[in-house]
Amino acid sequence: MITMNTHYAQLENSYLFYHIAQKTNAYLQTHSGTHLYRMGIGDVSQPLCGAVIQALHEAVDDQARKETFHGYMPECGAPFLRERIAAHYAQRGVTLDADEVFASGGASDELGDILDLFDTRSAAMVIEPAYPAYVDANVMAGRHIVHVSSGRENGFLPQPDASLQADILYICSPNNPTGAVFNRAQLQAWVDFANRRGAIILFDAAYEAFIEDETLPHSIFEMDGARTCAIEICSLSKTAGFTGTRMGYTVIPKALERNGMRIHDMWVRNRTTKTNGISYILQKGGAAVFTAQGQEQIHAQIQIYKQNAKTLTNALDRIGLWYCGGKNAPYIWMQCPDGMDSWTFFDFLLQKIQVVGTPGAGFGQCGEGYFRFSTFGDPDETAQAARRLVELFR
Ligand code: PLP
Repeated sequence: MITMNTHYAQLENSYLFYHIAQKTNAYLQTHSGTHLYRMGIGDVSQPLCGAVIQALHEAVDDQARKETFHGYMPECGAPFLRERIAAHYAQRGVTLDADEVFASGGASDELGDILDLFDTRSAAMVIEPAYPAYVDANVMAGRHIVHVSSGRENGFLPQPDASLQADILYICSPNNPTGAVFNRAQLQAWVDFANRRGAIILFDAAYEAFIEDETLPHSIFEMDGARTCAIEICSLSKTAGFTGTRMGYTVIPKALERNGMRIHDMWVRNRTTKTNGISYILQKGGAAVFTAQGQEQIHAQIQIYKQNAKTLTNALDRIGLWYCGGKNAPYIWMQCPDGMDSWTFFDFLLQKIQVVGTPGAGFGQCGEGYFRFSTFGDPDETAQAARRLVELFR
């Protein structure tokens, strides 16, 4: 008889957002017709910007004509996209070869797929509270997980410690769920640690476009020595509203080697075997994000989410609840009032004011007692949720 991957049995039986959906659906069944203010899941509310839509339309038309039709695309990404992204990094002072950029179908896919490159005996460090997929993808592979806790005492930005025994180091900055962002010195310390140890950093930069403090790094490759210890995984989901369109990119420097193997070559081998590339249409849409017009338009949308963040943080300031994030990141991470645990606070907000957020405990044990608000909602909905919060605590 076939033997299944029994590591799946070790997964928590309910994925965080699935559990939230179950609870909200149960509430709606007993309160039919009630409107919910959804500040929970990190899906965007603004449509794709004009430059992207135009590029997508033109690409569809290209596919209708023999002279401009594209069949299979290069597995690692179209040169026009890879060159645009490399040029975008160059504007920030990071020099990349275009073929160090790989087109992807989104950061989630990459965060899971890239684990193919590492032995299952390598240990993965996850800084908690954390995006749940890091832990789950490694549990599925049977990998040992080193949970590193963070909290208010270190601004949710822990530093490496010589006793840390891990080989794959997840770093998400700006962070989901806490909104914390590593500064240059703090990120440099992780790069130095990874190089000393021979570990590899998986740098999740899904929210880099939300950084407004110019002293903070957007890319790990702004740090000295990162080319020999890091992979950067990026997404257009939150940057440019691609959650339902699906595109991202991954940067793997050619200088990154372990056990005499070049990680870049391994990933080319992986992609050329396991994928047939991202569609021409999507890559055209993705490339439009990196034009001057695309950048201007996506930053105008990001401002809408930043205004939502201000609306919510103003409400929390009025109530007098502790929070962080919401400035260089699209998430606000607040402490639950009166020592409430995070699922109790979830139920409290759902029952009392029909506002849905995300319980901090879903991001790891040290997230208990905290709660996450997403700023990706519709501005009117967010304003109403903020008003309801203030009234509830008056
Ligand atoms: N990484 C982080 C930290 C995220 O929060 C998310 C989505 O919420 C992703 C990756 C996944 O992004 P994508 O939509 O590109 O799969």
